[in-house]
Amino acid sequence: MRLPIALHLAALLPPALSLPPSTLAVIARTDFDYIIVGGGPSGLTLANRLSADPRKQVLVLEAGQSRLGDPLIDVPGFLGSTVGNASYDWLFRTVPQAHANGNRFVMDRGKVLGGSTAINFMAWGRPAKGEIDGARPGEEGLCCPSEDSDGAEVVSRYALVVE
Ligand SMILES: Cc1cc2nc3c(=O)[nH]c(=O)nc-3n(C[C@H](O)[C@H](O)[C@H](O)COP(=O)(O)OP(=O)(O)OC[C@H]3O[C@@H](n4cnc5c(N)ncnc54)[C@H](O)[C@@H]3O)c2cc1C
Repeated sequence: MRLPIALHLAALLPPALSLPPSTLAVIARTDFDYIIVGGGPSGLTLANRLSADPRKQVLVLEAGQSRLGDPLIDVPGFLGSTVGNASYDWLFRTVPQAHANGNRFVMDRGKVLGGSTAINFMAWGRPAKGEIDGARPGEEGLCCPSEDSDGAEVVSRYALVVE
């Protein structure tokens, strides 16, 4: 994946609040075309696409730390171990739930470069052909570039790239 320059810098550094003055100076004197808040998959995918144009300056701001190479994230056997750990997890809590006896529930979300993919369970499932075919190509949020295309075929192609 191509990463924007600023993200490269951020990825090598401790949390944003303790960025060294030299890095802050580089950021301060750069005119960015795009500033993306949040270095989860959505933000990083967007940054990747936008930075494909070398004339564009893209900054990604991530509230959590960079934990590249952290075995608790990279090693599948540690699956789930970062959930509930405030170093990786925002530990959001719901408001009291009227239909659950007023209880509040923790809503885990990743607080780290990579977002919730850094704490998630790495489960990957392809939808069934019938589910994809049942949705009309061209509808908002769907994959298919044209009404003539075979949705399942398009999804399969992307899935193979990911796998
Ligand atoms: C415990 C758990 C298990 C999961 N298991 C799976 C699974 O097995 N398979 C699967 O496909 N999906 C799974 N998911 C879902 C998947 O991880 C998410 O759908 C995906 O990560 C969402 O991506 P996102 O970029 O929208 O948000 P996120 O991944 O949540 O990224 C948002 C990023 O923005 C940052 N951020 C937020 N506010 C600010 C701010 N003010 N300033 C700067 N940065 C900010 C956050 O720190 C975070 O890095 C799981 C999710 C969780 C929480």
